[in-house]
Amino acid sequence: MPRIESVDFYYCSMPEVLDIGDGSQDLLMVRLQAGEWVGWGECEASPLVSIASWVTPMSHSACKPVRDSVLGQQLDSVDDIRRIGTLVRANSMDLLQTDHTLSGVDIAMWDLLGKMHSEPVYKLLGYERQYPRTPYASVLFGDTPAETLEKAKRARAENFKAAKFGWGPYGLGSPETDAEHIAAAREGIGPDAHLLVDAGTVWKDDIDLARPRLAALKEFRATWLEEPFLSGALNAYATLAQEAAPVKMAGGEGSHNVHMAQHMIDYAGIGFVQIDAGRIGGITPSFDVATYARERGVTYVNHTFTSHLALAASLHPFAGSATDEICEYPTELKSLAWDVTKNHLARNADGQLLLNDEPGIGIEPDLQGAKKYLVDVEIRVGGKVLYQTPAI
Ligand SMILES: [Mg+2]
Repeated sequence: MPRIESVDFYYCSMPEVLDIGDGSQDLLMVRLQAGEWVGWGECEASPLVSIASWVTPMSHSACKPVRDSVLGQQLDSVDDIRRIGTLVRANSMDLLQTDHTLSGVDIAMWDLLGKMHSEPVYKLLGYERQYPRTPYASVLFGDTPAETLEKAKRARAENFKAAKFGWGPYGLGSPETDAEHIAAAREGIGPDAHLLVDAGTVWKDDIDLARPRLAALKEFRATWLEEPFLSGALNAYATLAQEAAPVKMAGGEGSHNVHMAQHMIDYAGIGFVQIDAGRIGGITPSFDVATYARERGVTYVNHTFTSHLALAASLHPFAGSATDEICEYPTELKSLAWDVTKNHLARNADGQLLLNDEPGIGIEPDLQGAKKYLVDVEIRVGGKVLYQTPAI
């Protein structure tokens, strides 16, 4: 019976991290070994904090380091992955970064199990086949409407049938300027493409700030308005959803567990639930949310903004769903997020995206590519080294 013998974390970062809404500036890859098998995963957001939650000294019985519930565990079935996830959440319940750390570990366990059973992860999840996705080009708003227009034109020239514009100046200035950005985005991507808008929680929970932006979203036929409010601002979401129709609300990337996502589906009036497998606890809870959403007529969409390892991990949970058509596909990745894997997910001649039909996640890390971004970290407590960056 293979047991989890080691878990290594590789914290990689661009030399300079900018204060912009670009999640590809650093990342944390996870290497998990059980017997002769190795799996890879990735955690989203704040690598150092995720590493710290792996090794931090126990505070009390519900606040243990994540590693205590992972190392030494038997791993040779899907049930083992679920059992380990449940154990981690119980033993590290009061450690708020647990879900991020668990995400990379969970993804690595699925990758390993797929390799062990010679199956792609989506088949282990019970899907018989995968369906192609329509990827949307995921870009930041330009600083000016003219810049947004150029980005939109580029997405169209690159054969994207959908494009999302987010963050940047949107929602911070006047509704008139925002309307100019939306008009520019629509002009650039053409009349038939899906236009998606991501407000990046800019209005917190203030409906009065969001309301004046709705007219332009309707006029230029946005498919969705994403994250007008903070995750969990359910009342604000539900109210705006009614006023925004036929533009739908999208949200959920902030979900740290299945229940948060279920609340968004049940009470926020969203039409699209966006789940980051690197944040919600990995592929296991992502799959559970995809199933829950499908049963309630809410469309599941992956959220991802880092490497193609994270991208592929975010696609497996709903790969076998025929109805969840579109997927996020970051197109402005920093070199780091591209260089850390040997293979990538490329669109086919129709502009559609499919997973590599290989065992596991289907993406191989490139440690030589990662080497130049590797951050040297040592965590020392009471004279004892709890963590040290592994050598490449
Ligand atoms: Mg977003």
